[in-house]
Amino acid sequence: MKDLEKLLIDNKPIRCEQCGGKLFHIGSGKYQCEKCEHTVSDDFGKVKEFLETHGPAPAIVVVQETGVREEIIEMFLKKGRLEIVEGSKYYLKCEKCGCSIRSGRFCLECARELAEGVKRVFYAEVGDKPKQDATLKGKMHFIKRK
Ligand SMILES: [Zn+2]
Ligand SMILES: [Zn+2]
Repeated sequence: MKDLEKLLIDNKPIRCEQCGGKLFHIGSGKYQCEKCEHTVSDDFGKVKEFLETHGPAPAIVVVQETGVREEIIEMFLKKGRLEIVEGSKYYLKCEKCGCSIRSGRFCLECARELAEGVKRVFYAEVGDKPKQDATLKGKMHFIKRK
């Protein structure tokens, strides 16, 4: 996990590839050049953009189309920045009981238990369990942060 976060930071664009100007973050993983207004996206921006343009897609397709490593996409999921849609074959596992969850690190039940015990489970680490309905197989979609 530490290595991935470092990789992610290394992948962040700093200089404009067109004019060499400084890039500043304009939100959602997008960066804009202060000189020529050329925009670039980091890994999160690429995944987000792809999902917004093409709609829900299986994780493997997202990996192929964006060139972003699957481990990095998984990290976005664990951090609650991305969420797996209902009916997917691709789920995360609750780190405590091993049940399927759509984002975060723990299911609601375990999070509650943990919260009573140590009081250090963050909201973003709690993910919903998938519902039984399997209409959207193997899909993943982006969820907007408030
Ligand atoms: Zn530029
Ligand atoms: Zn659990």
